[in-house]
Amino acid sequence: MPPLPDILTQLNDDMRSGGDWGDVASYIPELAHIDPAQFAIAVTMADGETFTAGDADTPFSVQSITKVFTLAIALGRSGDQLWRRVGREPSGRAFNSIVQLEQEEGRPRNPFINAGAIVTTDEILTGRAPRETLAEILQFIRAAAGDDDIHINHAVAASEKSHGHRNFALAHFLASCGNLNNAPEKTLGTYFHHCAIEMSARQLAMSGRFLIDTPKLPRLILPQRIRRLNALMLTCGHYDGSGDFAYRVGLPAKSGVGGGILAIVPGIASVAVWSPGLNRYGNSRKGTEAMAQLARTMNWSVF
Ligand code: GLU
Repeated sequence: MPPLPDILTQLNDDMRSGGDWGDVASYIPELAHIDPAQFAIAVTMADGETFTAGDADTPFSVQSITKVFTLAIALGRSGDQLWRRVGREPSGRAFNSIVQLEQEEGRPRNPFINAGAIVTTDEILTGRAPRETLAEILQFIRAAAGDDDIHINHAVAASEKSHGHRNFALAHFLASCGNLNNAPEKTLGTYFHHCAIEMSARQLAMSGRFLIDTPKLPRLILPQRIRRLNALMLTCGHYDGSGDFAYRVGLPAKSGVGGGILAIVPGIASVAVWSPGLNRYGNSRKGTEAMAQLARTMNWSVF
């Protein structure tokens, strides 16, 4: 097998050599003008050594990938009590589905669809100001990445807020079912801001190291939670495209509508890919392709 840096260079060339880039997430106006024809990959090994190719130092909106970090914080704070408010099953529905939340009486299927992440955000917000909660989330991510230069893009947060009618609908419905502790505006304000955190592929790969599950790393969360987070990423990390991603890639991973994907190779590595054009499930099109090719070439799979 060629050395990993050569594999990544080849992957970057392959992704740029043609084919459909997909469409950027236009429902958040601030993301709508991003050029879809961009690609980055970063692989951080358990010892922290990082290899990259493409636009690996370009910051992008990590969006739903922050849901992994907010879930880690919420579980650390509330433990298994959290599962009273949100489930652990794949949704098989769009990430922002309203109909499923109504059918299931306000208990979201899992913490990675929007309704579920609004609940975990609400859980960590309880008893705190939004500013403190956002500082805690940023601090967790910066500690995980070993990098303080990670910030919120306030223009993206404002853009999502001004067009966030679906998320407002979900939050108000949760409130009507008694599954929101804070005012919908307060919880959503916090949610939009953590979704608007920006990282480069290099920073994102570094931030995923805490999920690799190897004794070599400083622990940010309990070891048994690392496995649980990985299990949820595998089963629910790509919305209604989770089964297809598990089939094609075979690794726990979480996507965001900014075009990023964070994937974990347990015991070995954390991988970040970014390409802003999305497929019909709202997952990065080239990012998914690249992850499938990398997993195949490296023979990386949990199966
Ligand atoms: N902030 C986005 C939303 O709530 C996150 C969705 C995503 O990244 O999949 O719609």
